[in-house]
Amino acid sequence: MLYWNPTYECMDRDKLVELQNERLVNTVHKVYQNVPYYRQKMQAVGIMPEDIKTVDDLKKLPFTTKQDLRDNYPYGLFAVPLSEIVRIHASSGTTGKPTVVGYTKQDIISWSELMARTLTCGGTVKNSVIQIAYGYGLFTGGLGVHYGAERIGASVIPISGGNTKRQLMLMKDFGTDVLACTPSYALYIAETMQELKIDRQKFKLKYGIFGAEPWTENMRKEIEQKLGVSAIDIYGLSEVIGPGVASECQCKDGLHIFEDYFIAEVIDPETGESLPYGKEGELVFTTINKEGIPVIRYRTKDITALIPDQCECGRTHIRMKKIIGRTDDMLVIRGVNVFPSQIESVLVEIGDTEPHYMLIVDRINNLDTLEVLVEVSDRLFSDEVKRLEDLNKEITRKIHDTLGLAVKVRLVEPKTIERTEGKSKRVIDNRKI
Ligand SMILES: [Zn+2]
Repeated sequence: MLYWNPTYECMDRDKLVELQNERLVNTVHKVYQNVPYYRQKMQAVGIMPEDIKTVDDLKKLPFTTKQDLRDNYPYGLFAVPLSEIVRIHASSGTTGKPTVVGYTKQDIISWSELMARTLTCGGTVKNSVIQIAYGYGLFTGGLGVHYGAERIGASVIPISGGNTKRQLMLMKDFGTDVLACTPSYALYIAETMQELKIDRQKFKLKYGIFGAEPWTENMRKEIEQKLGVSAIDIYGLSEVIGPGVASECQCKDGLHIFEDYFIAEVIDPETGESLPYGKEGELVFTTINKEGIPVIRYRTKDITALIPDQCECGRTHIRMKKIIGRTDDMLVIRGVNVFPSQIESVLVEIGDTEPHYMLIVDRINNLDTLEVLVEVSDRLFSDEVKRLEDLNKEITRKIHDTLGLAVKVRLVEPKTIERTEGKSKRVIDNRKI
């Protein structure tokens, strides 16, 4: 099966825009009436709901940020009474209070629909056995995928993250053909497989549905080759709905944004100005078909660009490029914008290194320094010193070519850099700014 819901996924563009306009007008009226936060913000800039008639008018509305959600903790941005909310999720939030989101019964149905579309994009069908190794709980990953897979009617293994040996055992015994988890965990599973000398041929794995953190094209190749799957990138965030905001199709050339539910914009993160198609900037979402906690122009902090051209798969929904980084993760080193993903691309391209690395930023005598720790294979470490030196030089030169920045590269033995089973930490910034 190619599509889950062709009526919407392949909708004529003019009709789609008409639907967006109608739903946007509806949403703006609703939040104005029911959420004091939005009413006050609109009043402050002198905008009434009647001023918003089409998607083009969206620019008139103020942005919403994660901080706004925190300031209205826990339920301040809900647009319905708590009695209508059937599910509450919250972001992990490393400091202070989490950001809280709520779903009505209808929102759960919508979310399941969006995830059914996403999983279908990734190769999941009714006969699939899908192992969900995303975390279950307050995090939206596990339950989001779960509901979509059940909607399709696939056989769901709700194993959650961690306990990799057990994951592998069940994957083999239960005949899992679809694996859903973070890309870094997929790689960790693949590594464990190799370490335990498990024969991949005994597995039925065919498809991978990976998201919740940015990953590169090279990392995809690595995972596909090591796990023997076709891997797609999925995108979402709890503030917008969870996973199910956008998904790659099997063309793997950008992620389709489900535009009958979300309007996407890309803005300049410094000035807030809207950017034209194709320009990289911060991704902003407005939800237009959500009841519990609709968001207006929510700033995701993710950096991407929109691709308006029609995709070969037949879906008409606009695509976004794979996320290249976060406005938060963007390191400014000696005036140069650096995303960890750029360094990762260089490393995987060179090969001979494991895609495990760590960036250490420091400031010595008022000068920013960037040290790149890279794990290399056992084989190389037992090899002659000269080969290590050559590799070090090659990485240093290629990073310099890519970023225009001189860095110090240090090759380390396998498993030196700490592994995580969830999202990976790639940067240590020791600068006291
Ligand atoms: Zn497509």
